[in-house]
Amino acid sequence: MNQNQRNTGPAPDREAIAAALTRAIDSDRLWRSIMAMARYGATGNGGVNRLALTDTDNQAHLLLIGWARERGYHCAADDIGNIFIRRDGANPALDPVMTGSHLDTQPTGGKFDGIYGVLAGLEVFRALDDLGIITERPLELAVWANEEGCRFVPGCMGSACFAQPDTLPGWEAITDRDGITVRQAVRAFHQALPAVPLRALGTPVLAYIEAHIEQGPVLEDTLTTIGAVSGIQGCRDFQVVITGAEAHAGTTPLSSRRDAMKTAVRLLHDLYALTDAAGEECRFTVGALRVYPDSNSVVPGRVVFDIDFRHPSQSVLRQLGDRMLDLCARHADRCAVRATEIRWRQPAVFPPAIPRLIQRAAARLRHSCIMLPSGASHDAVNLHKRCPTGMIFVPCAGGVSHNERESAAPGDLHAGTQVLAEVLYRLATEGLPADVG
Ligand SMILES: [Zn+2]
Repeated sequence: MNQNQRNTGPAPDREAIAAALTRAIDSDRLWRSIMAMARYGATGNGGVNRLALTDTDNQAHLLLIGWARERGYHCAADDIGNIFIRRDGANPALDPVMTGSHLDTQPTGGKFDGIYGVLAGLEVFRALDDLGIITERPLELAVWANEEGCRFVPGCMGSACFAQPDTLPGWEAITDRDGITVRQAVRAFHQALPAVPLRALGTPVLAYIEAHIEQGPVLEDTLTTIGAVSGIQGCRDFQVVITGAEAHAGTTPLSSRRDAMKTAVRLLHDLYALTDAAGEECRFTVGALRVYPDSNSVVPGRVVFDIDFRHPSQSVLRQLGDRMLDLCARHADRCAVRATEIRWRQPAVFPPAIPRLIQRAAARLRHSCIMLPSGASHDAVNLHKRCPTGMIFVPCAGGVSHNERESAAPGDLHAGTQVLAEVLYRLATEGLPADVG
């Protein structure tokens, strides 16, 4: 047996301690923390504007660090701007069990996306303190830098760099619209932190569990409190460029037109027909379309659009994505059609033992629970590359997120934190389940 496997020794009171811990999760304290955090970048419409590594975001991190220091937890930062809050265990040499999420938001974001996962983790630490529980392993609360990817594109930057530290130079060179690099912004963040030591990127982690609002309607529609997330769907993104010839809208006869818009509309029609027939799990979106020269009396010489295609199955991503490329090639007529693959991210399938732990905790707490895949991407996708990973979803009103109206019920947030507490406690006391694979 290695040190990461389950300790099978007698521990008759673990069930009682886990039950007491979940009862000690303080719904009001959690809610007050979320509302206090929401003041940093409050928009006036009930939302939050807290772009990554801005002064506002840095101040929000400082608020959290202040709360952590009140409890005596150790705080550390790394080179990409992640921070880690550590609650010691009985055996400091063991790899920690990690939870966390992000504090940055979209420009018109809500109070809960990301923030909930961070403050649910803090609430678990506080409840452990209240009962004087010492876990075997340390617990760490991670706040991942730039999850949203608004100011610095792309997102999930902090967790991606943690999972693959050798990618740091590439991330550091990314600039925002004002030409400020990630490296400069992270340096300013470090300077704003009062005596927080730096630590290495990519330290070992036993397991990672992230709590998050669902950002979709499934839990609410099925009257379910807890989602045990099976994995995160993958995506293939394409850019399609259709090239015809600009011409006078009034004088050019049909027979000599090379109208890029006409080809685009026919191609899009066939792409929608293909993907509509592929079932509910297939998510196909064309959210950006550019027409050149974009003038009302010129036959368009060029149309460019972006395809965002997501699916939980790798084989469907391959087959259906390839058929899209095939359709693009077949629509070349008077106009040239060129489709370029921008990104192919494989789906993450969490080790089933982790969602099973979540389901078991929810059942013991008598919270309704279903398994579901995540439609949105999360930092957990990157942690999945490093250690057994799972996510706990709670409902958000109407499935609305990335929106100032984003809202979640205190009772659901409390229930998700109870499940998080039980799962973290078991992992930090018993180690990984024997069947984690
Ligand atoms: Zn998020």
